[in-house]
Amino acid sequence: MTVRKKDEGVLLVVSGPSGAGKGTICNALRQLHPEIRYSISVTTRPQRVGEVDGVNYFFTTEENFRKMLAEDAFLEYAEVYTNLYGTPRKQVLDMVKDGQTVLLEIDIQGAMQVKKKFPSGIFIYVVPPSLQELSHRLYARDTDTQEVIQARLNKVTDELALAHKYDYIVVNDKLDEAVDKVRAIMVAERCKLSRNQEQINHIFDRYIIKEVL
Ligand code: 5GP
Repeated sequence: MTVRKKDEGVLLVVSGPSGAGKGTICNALRQLHPEIRYSISVTTRPQRVGEVDGVNYFFTTEENFRKMLAEDAFLEYAEVYTNLYGTPRKQVLDMVKDGQTVLLEIDIQGAMQVKKKFPSGIFIYVVPPSLQELSHRLYARDTDTQEVIQARLNKVTDELALAHKYDYIVVNDKLDEAVDKVRAIMVAERCKLSRNQEQINHIFDRYIIKEVL
């Protein structure tokens, strides 16, 4: 029996300023598509109420994080508001190689590192409809101190300047529409010819040639 080589999957990288709603969009997309593999990041940030270790994040100490960094365990990492966050490298790349769709929800610094190391990734930038709305969302979320929120808002202008480095922009005004757009991007990317060479060869060999002859 010949074992067919697998086409590479899709690495979807969703980022954007915090409060833009990327987490909510990613959660909704995962509910619609349970086959999507989600990369659980490692972080030194304190666990929030309701978060589960190994589900939302792998919570760890700074010492352990730095040890993993020295061992080249991360595809990317970033310091976000005094906390360290990193994407486990091997697990993500193995899943993409295996043909899966893998979703990373990471900050902009991290997304730019992934773009360098994995240029065939699909980079989606989620933006809020306005700065006023962003500020409103960050305060309504009630998960951070006023200083942290202010720091996040101060960073937004710099972050928006990087929007042109992405493949797609999704304005998150109405959640349902934003989820639809990210879903449409994912589906279209899965259908790209370049990601379906093995599939095409298989169809060609098995059906077209035999049926024509
Ligand atoms: P939070 O602490 O609110 O969960 O996340 C803060 C920010 O860190 C968010 O913008 C989130 O997308 C980002 N983030 C979460 N995990 C990672 C990661 O593995 N790498 C990078 N670069 N950013 C991350």
